[in-house]
Amino acid sequence: MTKLKNISKISKWFDGLNEPLIIAGPCSAESEEQVMQTAREIAASGKVKVFRSGIWKPRTRPGNFEGVGEEGLQWLQQVKKETGLLTAIEIANSEHADLAIKYDVDILWIGARTTSNPFSIQELADHLKGYDKPVMVKNPINPDVSLWVGALERFHKAGVNKLAAVHRGFYPFEPTTLRNIPKWEVAIELKSMCHDLPIICDPSHIAGNTEYIEEISQKALDLNMDGLMIETHYNPTVALSDMNQQLTPNELDTLLDELIFRRTTTKDEDFTSILETMRGKIDSIDQQMLELLSQRMNVVEEIGKYKSKNEVTILQLRRWEKIMSTRLKLGKSLGLTEDFIKKLLQLVHKESIQRQTEVMNKLTSSKKKY
Ligand code: PEP
Ligand code: MN
Repeated sequence: MTKLKNISKISKWFDGLNEPLIIAGPCSAESEEQVMQTAREIAASGKVKVFRSGIWKPRTRPGNFEGVGEEGLQWLQQVKKETGLLTAIEIANSEHADLAIKYDVDILWIGARTTSNPFSIQELADHLKGYDKPVMVKNPINPDVSLWVGALERFHKAGVNKLAAVHRGFYPFEPTTLRNIPKWEVAIELKSMCHDLPIICDPSHIAGNTEYIEEISQKALDLNMDGLMIETHYNPTVALSDMNQQLTPNELDTLLDELIFRRTTTKDEDFTSILETMRGKIDSIDQQMLELLSQRMNVVEEIGKYKSKNEVTILQLRRWEKIMSTRLKLGKSLGLTEDFIKKLLQLVHKESIQRQTEVMNKLTSSKKKY
């Protein structure tokens, strides 16, 4: 357990807030018109309470759109005045924090890159001491739950008790269907470390593409998360950042109508939600397992090509024996039975040989043609 005690519920942050909290808005504030039009369309449905917008954009490479800066904060004040939506922005250093306070931004969030750096987090925590601003901490780029909890603890120690975590997935070291690997089990682990901590899901950055946003949002709700942060732009086709993952306000409205919001108040529902939580872990692990198997087969094919070029046979007994003995040893040390590991390896090996045979046959028949 952590020292994260007396954390305020999201519904206590401001009057009129409820859970699950829906936050929507563009990846970046780009112009006054873009901000105002998007905010007006989002506010019209009445389902969204908080308008998000990046003012300073932490881009991986310099030269990409890096945000409009201070000017954008005036547009957010106008959003608040005109639509009544609360506002949320990302801050990464004390200058951002000062400006957020000066322009009275309602909610601050810490981006994934910043959470990864305890020096920056400490600087921000010291700076926000004494202000009653809600702070949402995105998970760090790597699936390191201690780094995530550590950042939350630094803010908490500085007296911030309107705290939430934002689950936005983790950097995939290999190409995957989604932009970020959700690794739901990490968010679940965080929840089991601090039961009172609200967790909001950011399906947009997990998905990287509008196609998967509904599925991820539903999963987050089924796991009992306390809110969703969904990137929304009045015209994503001209967005200056993350254009593939932003919904239009209309699409957002449809999505929110289609999602099933379950309440977990009765005992039975509690049971279902615990079961769902555990099943969430299994789903996430299975997805990673299949992705790893697919990566293994890709490497197997590469080896097939290489062997074919060098005219080497597919089956090399010594290698196979070594695989079997090392994996048996490892598997057993991980608590798996010998019988299970053997069957699994044989299955994987059979598929690998088949893949290599196909690759080699293809290469030989194309050689014959010339
Ligand atoms: C964002 O919310 O636009 C953003 C930059 O997110 P992250 O820190 O999760 O990459
Ligand atoms: Mn974004």
